[in-house]
Amino acid sequence: MAGPAPRLRQLLLALPLLALAATGAAGQSAPRSAAPVPAKELFGRVATPAALAPRAIGFYSKGCLAGGTALAVNGPSWQVMRLSRNRNWGHPDLIDFMERFAAEVPKVSSWPGILVGDMAQPRGGPMLTGHASHQIGLDADIWLTPSPGRELTREEREKISATVMVRADRRDIDPANWQPDHWKVVRAAAVDPRVERIFVNAAIKKALCRDARGDRGFLAKVRPYWGHDYHMHVRLTCPAASPDCRPQEAPPSGEGCGSELDWWFTDEVLHPKPEKEPAKPKPPLTLADLPGACVQVLDAR
Ligand SMILES: [Zn+2]
Repeated sequence: MAGPAPRLRQLLLALPLLALAATGAAGQSAPRSAAPVPAKELFGRVATPAALAPRAIGFYSKGCLAGGTALAVNGPSWQVMRLSRNRNWGHPDLIDFMERFAAEVPKVSSWPGILVGDMAQPRGGPMLTGHASHQIGLDADIWLTPSPGRELTREEREKISATVMVRADRRDIDPANWQPDHWKVVRAAAVDPRVERIFVNAAIKKALCRDARGDRGFLAKVRPYWGHDYHMHVRLTCPAASPDCRPQEAPPSGEGCGSELDWWFTDEVLHPKPEKEPAKPKPPLTLADLPGACVQVLDAR
């Protein structure tokens, strides 16, 4: 695949230096007014992967990806949505997981296949819009809406909305949309040993706790999180040959059902009081905040 156009490439090569200069790393003479370039401006504008050996570098919410691979936009039992975002990239482990998981889905449920949401950018890193994580090529969003069993057009993939699974009062799932197939599909993802964690809305976790039959061991990996009311977010463990990949703490033991979910349904969470003084937004990550190897990832052909 062709690299960025020469002018863009020049700009991209210059930007890391600007970022370093602005943070003072390149000397004291950096002008005070030059704000560091947000790393999302750098990683969010590169359309091709870094031609390096595959490596997940850093942490899920602070890192980048070398040797990224794209998931095909169509597979026997998957379709990638929102193609304009160019976020169907990942570490080869993630691509392999997606292909195998998609193949399992029609075997364990009535779904013809899955709809794939955001994975990572070609070189990972922070994104211009959405997501704090998805930076090292090991996170993938999978819609909780089945694939329709026919090939969607490019336009449909931009416009179709996912179905929200959570009831309007946020205390449980919406029984009109939640089907028994859902827990089977979530379990098919969770039982893959490479899956470290799956994030879903607390109301969805509650429904999984209620519905799951047979071996319920997979529930330990499925943890409640904000949002995530129309997709599940699958996160893989650090690959073996990625020494700079920083693992996440293991999930607490046990199914995480029952009273462990109570906090998520309190007023504090469901109806938070507006803050008197809104918290200042965190400054965006700069290249200097990311692991040093991310400079090479950005500069690689
Ligand atoms: Zn997510």
